[in-house]
Amino acid sequence: MSRIIEKLMGLQAKDSELDSVTAWIAAIPEEINNGKKEIDALNESLKAADEEYKKQAVAQQELENDIRKFNEEIKKSQSELYAVKTNDLYTTILEGIKNKKNQVSDAETSLLELMDKVEEEKKSVSALKENAAKQIAEMKSRCQALNTEKDALSASLESKKKARDESAESMKSDSSLAKALEQYERIRKSKGGIAVVKVKDGNACGGCNIALTRQQIIEVSSADIVVCENCGRMLCA
Ligand SMILES: [Zn+2]
Repeated sequence: MSRIIEKLMGLQAKDSELDSVTAWIAAIPEEINNGKKEIDALNESLKAADEEYKKQAVAQQELENDIRKFNEEIKKSQSELYAVKTNDLYTTILEGIKNKKNQVSDAETSLLELMDKVEEEKKSVSALKENAAKQIAEMKSRCQALNTEKDALSASLESKKKARDESAESMKSDSSLAKALEQYERIRKSKGGIAVVKVKDGNACGGCNIALTRQQIIEVSSADIVVCENCGRMLCA
């Protein structure tokens, strides 16, 4: 590997690290935001399940009240029966008692079904709560860790940038290195960060995969800088 390419590869390693750290720092707030959204969604679904449970519990209470009321009415009617003087009234009251008893029976059947439902709902809400609490705790600690990581990375970024700039600066005192550096910066800009690529499988450009000629492959190991004719990146063995 030529001295120039070696220097450029060293610089490129620093640049690539800076790029990825910078990108990650920029992505962290979004990552944290997503975590917060997940927490909100969990709380929402928990709230909805809890409301559904409460609604059914209230319905159960109402049904129980209805049954109590019907039974009281039945009792009252039954005590009235003793004082009744006419057969017609007696029959009417008896009919009323029979109807009420049917209502009680229907209500009791509904109540049993509802009680099962309420019990199930209660279990599912409590499972959901337990699960959500675990997930929320995990999410919160992840958000916290991300924040800490962001601060640490931001703090280290400056010294990394400084080291990179010093390394580039030191190349400028040598005219051929300075020229190569300019070329490197230009390619890096136009190729999304990677200016120097290795020859792949001994015969292709590691950047764009195009097959290289024998002549180009020979030049890569002898000349200072060989540029891929297809993608414009610098090649190294
Ligand atoms: Zn190429």
